[in-house]
Amino acid sequence: MLLDVRGIEAGYGPIKALDGVSITVDEGELVAIIGANGAGKTTLLMAISGIVRPRRGEVTFQGQSLAGLPPHEIVRLGIGHSPEGRRIFPRLTVRENLELGGFTQTDRVQVRRDIDEACSLFPILGDRMGQLGGTLSGGEQQMLALARALVGRPKLLLLDEPSLGLAPLIVAKIFEVIAGLAGRGIAVMLVEQNARAALRLASRGYVLETGRVTLTGSGADLAADPRVRDAYLGG
Ligand code: ATP
Repeated sequence: MLLDVRGIEAGYGPIKALDGVSITVDEGELVAIIGANGAGKTTLLMAISGIVRPRRGEVTFQGQSLAGLPPHEIVRLGIGHSPEGRRIFPRLTVRENLELGGFTQTDRVQVRRDIDEACSLFPILGDRMGQLGGTLSGGEQQMLALARALVGRPKLLLLDEPSLGLAPLIVAKIFEVIAGLAGRGIAVMLVEQNARAALRLASRGYVLETGRVTLTGSGADLAADPRVRDAYLGG
């Protein structure tokens, strides 16, 4: 097992956003997390990457507890995070944004190689290396956020709503790249409002409702489950 999230509780002041959530991800596995707005999906990813501290429970990665580790140490262990809303640096160039993705690595040659590889997944980024991040289209910014997370050579990639607000053709391209990551040995935890597409890609999925896991199963079983169909797939 690559990632083991066990019974975590987390929140903001009096608000309990996660209430005893347990989730596992195996090596190279794509796991989808679906749920309504406010269910706790973003908090879950932040609790794994060390941005939010769980109050109870534990996250272990490759058998090592992440308790008390700061986010940059968690990145160094091999967990990349592409946050909701992309959060690229608008005043840095595409190349500079990508270089920041490799900030935990000391081997600059390797970082350059990783950047080339990330650009081979999204050739448009290669054409835009000198352009400021903030001048890219929404879809290109999402590609940049994904590519930046890949430059850190993650074993596990946390993706928060990669399709949000993007045109269908771009969404298809981004999902195609995400689907190919497992073949490169990268596991993915995919948080998506687009539950249909996410469950199609995922080997397994979890439904999160008000901070709790209410259903889990294979992507296909969840997509066929009447409760999931009614609530998340539009019947
Ligand atoms: P969305 O899809 O809308 O991003 P989500 O499933 O990712 O939803 P979270 O963003 O994790 O859900 O939010 C879980 C709960 O925590 C919600 O009740 C939300 O209002 C609350 N919450 C999130 N961020 C904060 C914050 N910074 N301060 C206070 N409450 C917050």
